Amino acid sequence: MTTLETTCCIVGGGPAGMIAGWLLARAGVDVIVLEKHADFFRDFRGDTIHPSTLELVYELGALDEFSAVPQTRIDHLDLQILGERAPGPDFRDLPTHCKEVALMPQWDFLDFVARQAKRYSRFRLIMEADCEDLATEGDRITGVLARTPDGPLEVRADLVVGADGRHSNVRDRAGLRRIDVGAPIDVLWMKLPKLPSDPSQVLGIIAVQQFLVMLDRGTYWQCAYLIEKGGTDAVKARGLPAFRRRLAEIAPFLDDRTSALASWDDIKLLTVVVDRLERWWRAGLICIGDAAHAMSPVGGVGINLAIQDAVALANRVAEPLREHRLTDDDLAAVQARREAPARRIQRLQVAIHEHVLEQILAGRGKFRLWLVRFALRHASWLRRKIANTVGVGQLEHVQPAPA
Ligand SMILES: Cc1cc2nc3c(=O)[nH]c(=O)nc-3n(C[C@H](O)[C@H](O)[C@H](O)COP(=O)(O)OP(=O)(O)OC[C@H]3O[C@@H](n4cnc5c(N)ncnc54)[C@H](O)[C@@H]3O)c2cc1C
Repeated sequence: MTTLETTCCIVGGGPAGMIAGWLLARAGVDVIVLEKHADFFRDFRGDTIHPSTLELVYELGALDEFSAVPQTRIDHLDLQILGERAPGPDFRDLPTHCKEVALMPQWDFLDFVARQAKRYSRFRLIMEADCEDLATEGDRITGVLARTPDGPLEVRADLVVGADGRHSNVRDRAGLRRIDVGAPIDVLWMKLPKLPSDPSQVLGIIAVQQFLVMLDRGTYWQCAYLIEKGGTDAVKARGLPAFRRRLAEIAPFLDDRTSALASWDDIKLLTVVVDRLERWWRAGLICIGDAAHAMSPVGGVGINLAIQDAVALANRVAEPLREHRLTDDDLAAVQARREAPARRIQRLQVAIHEHVLEQILAGRGKFRLWLVRFALRHASWLRRKIANTVGVGQLEHVQPAPA
């Protein structure tokens, strides 16, 4: 068994864990981030880098390097509702430096964050380290036990951060109670080729019984097709040709390409979870991001919230960690600051699940969709409000690095 000592051990190299690692190392705290995969190249993640994250990158003085990574910037989004285009969120009036959303595959974003963080000698990222258990002394968490290709690894730390996503092992091992809010939808995730003649960026295509989200990844569309919770077997039972036809119905310009879906292996099920922890922490440990509050894909806000949690965490614990005087009050303060914004967004997501998505999927929501389209077309304040809620939320600002 290899044993390492550090001040903060972060489990999970997703948006929450990598940003927390970067900020803590910048603030002079020794950090080890453990990531169970060998790279960041996984496809189940969203691609949206929100204005709040761009603001953070700006405050950290890294906007030029960020801008050099291939990406698409959009300052407003359109939807197609019942066959007609309607304007969606409009980011142009936001109170942030970048009044846009950057669309960048998440692995590129995480590579960028890793490059920035590695400039600090106090930052260490260990890939292929799968956290299996926690080390304890009495009631206090004192470290992490992980499996690596080189054998078992123990990392001892003043603080363990569970940033290991919505199936968090850290949260379970710490015995933190999870409240399952529930979600009536799941998502089928697939790629379809993109042609120059395709319509410009439309975020969502919504029709009766159908909802398709399309993310522009340059040469292909990353598509998310909403289905009822647990509805995959029913979709499969109707057969792949029927599924291809449904896609072509909702987005006719894809008709000549749905054959790219050669088998069900080309279509991945992403189970949607909405939950939150009653308490995010116990002595020596805190959970942030999806590990503390798994978000629905509605609004594409999960990455945003996870990163803002990381900023709030670093702001509160960096100094006590540097001076090895972290208390439970510091951890409780992080939850107190970040729980309300997460709960607000979850309430909104649940309302949209119940009053819009469930109705659409059940074939009942035509009038509501018409109303939504009417409201989006005629209320510019609503488009700005949605952009602010989704793109900024409760903004956390980074503290200056210590001299
Ligand atoms: C279908 C779908 C689409 C979505 N689309 C969007 C979107 O467009 N925009 C958006 O903002 N949000 C989106 N979300 C939500 C978003 O993906 C999450 O909210 C966000 O990724 C949370 O970040 P995180 O860092 O907390 O967790 P994660 O991104 O889940 O990262 C957790 C990391 O921990 C690692 N890990 C897990 N277990 C261990 C372990 N035992 N040991 C070591 N490492 C471990 C994982 O490999 C992973 O790298 C979507 C979610 C779903 C389900």
